[in-house]
Amino acid sequence: MLTIQSNVSLKSYNTFGIDATARYLVEVDNDEDIQTLLQLPDVQTLPKLILGGGSNLLLTQDFNGLVVKINIKGIQTIKEDQDNIWVQAGAGENWHEFVMYCVERKWAGLENLSLIPGTVGAAPMQNIGAYGVEIKDTFYRLEAVHILTGQKRIFTHEECKFGYRDSIFKNEVKGEYIILSVQFKLHKTPTFHISYGDIQKTLDQMSIKELSIKAISDAVIKIRKSKLPDPAEIGNAGSFFKNPEIPNSHYQQLQQLYPEIPGYVVSENTTKVPAGWLIEQCGWKGKRLGNIGVHTKQALVLVNYGGGKGAEIKQLAEKIQASVEENFGIKLHTEVNFI
Ligand SMILES: Cc1cc2nc3c(=O)[nH]c(=O)nc-3n(C[C@H](O)[C@H](O)[C@H](O)COP(=O)(O)OP(=O)(O)OC[C@H]3O[C@@H](n4cnc5c(N)ncnc54)[C@H](O)[C@@H]3O)c2cc1C
Repeated sequence: MLTIQSNVSLKSYNTFGIDATARYLVEVDNDEDIQTLLQLPDVQTLPKLILGGGSNLLLTQDFNGLVVKINIKGIQTIKEDQDNIWVQAGAGENWHEFVMYCVERKWAGLENLSLIPGTVGAAPMQNIGAYGVEIKDTFYRLEAVHILTGQKRIFTHEECKFGYRDSIFKNEVKGEYIILSVQFKLHKTPTFHISYGDIQKTLDQMSIKELSIKAISDAVIKIRKSKLPDPAEIGNAGSFFKNPEIPNSHYQQLQQLYPEIPGYVVSENTTKVPAGWLIEQCGWKGKRLGNIGVHTKQALVLVNYGGGKGAEIKQLAEKIQASVEENFGIKLHTEVNFI
């Protein structure tokens, strides 16, 4: 049964805890709900916001349309062979719980992505990534429904055009589809990715003798808990900006001025610079402006201490972008989606 509610506070629907109001909100549990919804004449003309866990968006104002909260559940094994297992999860499955489901069964590939908030359906949107792994590494295909026509479509790996925190769903077909389910091709024999960040150090601290995907998942969870603010305690959406990629020549110029500037080679011509470092150098780390600010430990994370407005966070983000551009000649792009 579809229940369309009016004038709903979205405060508990976004991890920033922004108290914006949706004109209408509906929660959908399956494909049939979505088909029924999309055929309602009044619904067809309304602007729509497809919502998962609300952990990658900033509500800059009230939403004068219909919020469609995706609750589609279910995890199925599609097929397996000697080396791999193909697993499908409903778009409304909690991402971390899905990762735990796979880790428990010793299906390898997602362990480095433990504890990322949000839903399975939103994960391909920005090709979520952490600790040297992205979902594109195990993504097989997804099923989506076209919002205007109600037609279902499969998107293959190639068709998703995954990039760094990017996919076709943020570009060519932005706002056109609802992702219904995602299929992953996981491995029966793991390849361990432990060179990134503090994974090895944490495994050592945990006195792990034998490497396993469970041990890696535990280490990633431990690191994330110590480094990132928990949205249940302080409103945030994780990294607010993407790490910029700049031409090597620009990076070399900056190295003359700032010999300690960190950088990672991404291609023959470009270097990736941590946005958090740039923001910190501009003096923003820990800055508080009323109810909002820049996190005290992570300059890349903007926070709502309670009662902050999305428009205020947007303004702060613009100030940060302006000062990074002025000081380093680098334009920061947001990872968070502005609504
Ligand atoms: C503390 C914290 C840490 C984080 N760490 C990471 C990290 O390490 N790596 C990383 O990549 N991200 C990270 N994130 C960002 C976020 O968790 C991911 O982007 C996540 O995939 C968002 O899922 P969601 O369900 O909350 O999406 P939402 O915020 O609800 O939606 C995000 C976008 O996807 C769209 N969308 C959502 N579901 C669907 C669907 N079924 N069909 C079509 N469109 C849809 C929305 O319209 C919106 O544009 C972090 C966030 C927080 C708060």
